[in-house]
Amino acid sequence: MNLTPMMQQYFEIKNQYKDCILFFRLGDFYEMFFEDAIKASKELEITLTGRDCGMEERAPMCGIPFHSAENYISKLIEKGFKVAICEQVEDVNASKGIVKRDVVRVVTPGTVIESSMLNEKVNNYIMAIYNEKNSYGIAIAEITTGEFYAASVLYGNTKSKLIDEISRYNPSELLVNENFLNDKSLYKHVKEKFNSYISIVDKNIINKSDLIERAKNNFKNLIIDDDNTYEYSIISSGILLWYLENTQKVNLDHIKNFKQYKLEEYMIIDYSSRRNLELTETLRDKKRKGSLIGVLDRTKTSMGARLLKKWIEQPLINVSDINERLEAVMEFKEKYMIRNEIRDNLKKVYDIERLMGKFVLGKVNCRDLISFKESLKQLPNIKKIMSECASYLNSSNRENIDTLDDIFFLIEKSIIDEPPITIKEGNIIKDGYNSEVDKYRTASKEGKDWIKEFEKREREATGIKNLKVKYNRIFGYFLEVTKSYFSLIPKNYIRKQTLSNCERFITDDLKKIEETILGAEEKVIKLEYDIFIRIRDSIASQVERVKLTSNSLSKIDVICSFSEVSERENYKCPIVDESGIIKLVNGRHPVVEAFLQEEVFVPNDTTLDLSDNRVAIITGPNMAGKSTYMRQVALITLMAQIGCFVPADDATIGIVDRIFTRVGASDDLSSGQSTFMVEMAEVANILENSTENSLLILDEIGRGTSTFDGLSIAWAVIEYIVNKEKIGARTLFATHYHELSELEDKIKGIKNYCVLVQEKGEDIIFLRKIERGGADDSYGIEVAKLAGVPRSVIDRAKEILNDLEDNDLGKKEIKSKKKNRLIEGQIDLFKLNAEIRDNGSDIIEEIKNKNIEVLTPIEALNYIYDLQKRVKKG
Ligand code: ATP
Repeated sequence: MNLTPMMQQYFEIKNQYKDCILFFRLGDFYEMFFEDAIKASKELEITLTGRDCGMEERAPMCGIPFHSAENYISKLIEKGFKVAICEQVEDVNASKGIVKRDVVRVVTPGTVIESSMLNEKVNNYIMAIYNEKNSYGIAIAEITTGEFYAASVLYGNTKSKLIDEISRYNPSELLVNENFLNDKSLYKHVKEKFNSYISIVDKNIINKSDLIERAKNNFKNLIIDDDNTYEYSIISSGILLWYLENTQKVNLDHIKNFKQYKLEEYMIIDYSSRRNLELTETLRDKKRKGSLIGVLDRTKTSMGARLLKKWIEQPLINVSDINERLEAVMEFKEKYMIRNEIRDNLKKVYDIERLMGKFVLGKVNCRDLISFKESLKQLPNIKKIMSECASYLNSSNRENIDTLDDIFFLIEKSIIDEPPITIKEGNIIKDGYNSEVDKYRTASKEGKDWIKEFEKREREATGIKNLKVKYNRIFGYFLEVTKSYFSLIPKNYIRKQTLSNCERFITDDLKKIEETILGAEEKVIKLEYDIFIRIRDSIASQVERVKLTSNSLSKIDVICSFSEVSERENYKCPIVDESGIIKLVNGRHPVVEAFLQEEVFVPNDTTLDLSDNRVAIITGPNMAGKSTYMRQVALITLMAQIGCFVPADDATIGIVDRIFTRVGASDDLSSGQSTFMVEMAEVANILENSTENSLLILDEIGRGTSTFDGLSIAWAVIEYIVNKEKIGARTLFATHYHELSELEDKIKGIKNYCVLVQEKGEDIIFLRKIERGGADDSYGIEVAKLAGVPRSVIDRAKEILNDLEDNDLGKKEIKSKKKNRLIEGQIDLFKLNAEIRDNGSDIIEEIKNKNIEVLTPIEALNYIYDLQKRVKKG
């Protein structure tokens, strides 16, 4: 085999980037060869051709034009490939022999910087995991924003903690050391659960002391402690830095925002709870709309939207930090004029955080500079408006805004207002900014004026009326004479080209001027480019100032967003403390409430604490609203701990260190586990990891096995949780096992609740009201009827149920208890009516005229709820 020199060069480079598709620059194209070409031609739907390369068979080859590479790269990244971009790194004309080529950047899912490949509202994280025995170091970065976090996972159930952290960041790329692969089930789990590209870091790279040194050199605020708590986090940081340097091939100076943290610094929410609570996307179709963030996001900037997501994903557990946020939200809620003005200004602020990343990585164009300038223009205004803020957080955010006037004026003075997208063809620097640019421009302009004069002069001198001076790239400037004037052509015209009905000429004078014009234009283009690079780099060097400002703007945006949503959705400021109490008056589910169309949301109270009310056992039929109720308590708690107001008339939230939910069926057939097995694994995880300060939401534990097995498991789980020697966590426990109601009288700390329904003839009506006491009936048959199960099956089920109940004397007593409670429920509604009468005299007439006979109970309840709202407002 006698490879051509170019192919030898190709193989040398390709061998270093085996896991990537290599884009090999040949003139105006990126070419791919062999396996890469076969894969890429299929994925990109481009023609596969071949090229002689000195081997027996032609090399499979495909190519794409270099100027449209971004589009193709983005498709390949989306399909799960990495792309190594190999450029010609020396001047083709200057090179002797084969032109030098090298990889200038490796584009990977976790390191893309192009806006077209990024979601502006979501951080694009890359995470490195270093595993040794049962411990892990994790490091997380986003290259466009310069964030970098690191932590060690050393104690307890480290695997499940690691999974929780992965789910918190949801990285698009994971780097793992080879050790990590030894735990096959963990590796499989991570591969299946997360949509992350996994790269395996070669063991030759893992030299602990080198990696630690690398991290130390990059991060001046790195903490190295005596008890090695941070060691693994530092090693993983070293791995991540190594990878970023090797893929980006540029200085990573802007990655300064380094924070080492301990897992316990934030509320812990495990992987399945995050999904079940639908914090940032819906469970079923992964949409933002229908999730908590969909309701809370009223931010005006992408930076704010990203920060909001981060806040939702890591609620605080420090009371004073939370109260700082709440106080700031309150201030903007009260000073709504200020809030509106700030939001109006924020609307005009572009993503300066990611733009800054592009500056530092040398990827900005002139239009980015203009967007940057437009954003900076808003800063003095925002700072001025905020001078009326007194709360600690709003004031310190204001303080941290650097108006960056120097950068604003630099761009304002130098870059024209509507520049072209390319930076290599001139026309980007304003007149008057640089005397040399002005000089060249004048020379070029004078030359062009001379040409106009010359054309006029020649027409007069020769008598050729339609003589024209034209320009093209091949001949430069020339004179054009049509056929009918050929006889008038003077002797000093030098013929250059003959076309069908005209001839083209040059003269010595014209060529001299052409040299001046073209020389000046060439020089000015180069000079403009150099000036642009200088401006770009000088702005890039201000990264820390810009970062401080963009951080403040993001926080202001999120706080404004919380105030806005609190005002519009009638959320109230919670009291957040360490009392261990969760007390809600008229709590609502923020998302269900926002999406209900015809019905109004029925609010409910909650009392949980660390003594008599640790565990609430909630019974009630399917569809009654148990899950909604339990989730609403979890969401309200989480909202309070991110510093947002909450959907309740009154709320006290005693800090929760972690929220666990076991809600709904989450089959995991792909992992070879049955529904029941998954449920039990989740229960085991909860019992192992929850503490007295946790909040547990447990829905129907023990289904999916025989009644007695299920009941026994549920019973034992409650006993274990309520016991503060074991856990003692505040818990909402929904169940269909009515027998569990007996626990209230047996164990201190347990209270029974049920969701009211009303029977109407053969049907049931859901009242959605949570009341003290146990439910007595499941109404399963009625719900089955509502769901459309055939009439004959329903009738037969009723017959069977009657037979069963006749054999169970206890049921008779239960039926009479239920009747009493419904009557009590109706008395409550009556009382509410009376309250309305007292408070809202102007509404009395409307009520008098209302035909109550035709209302169903739920319509009546909705009507009363509406009246109550109107009376309260009035
Ligand atoms: P299952 O036991 O079958 O899971 P469930 O008792 O948990 O049922 P949910 O899923 O919570 O019932 O509620 C069923 C539907 O009832 C919800 O989708 C929502 O539309 C409505 N709903 C629940 N709670 C309320 C409420 N407080 N006010 C108004 N509508 C509600």
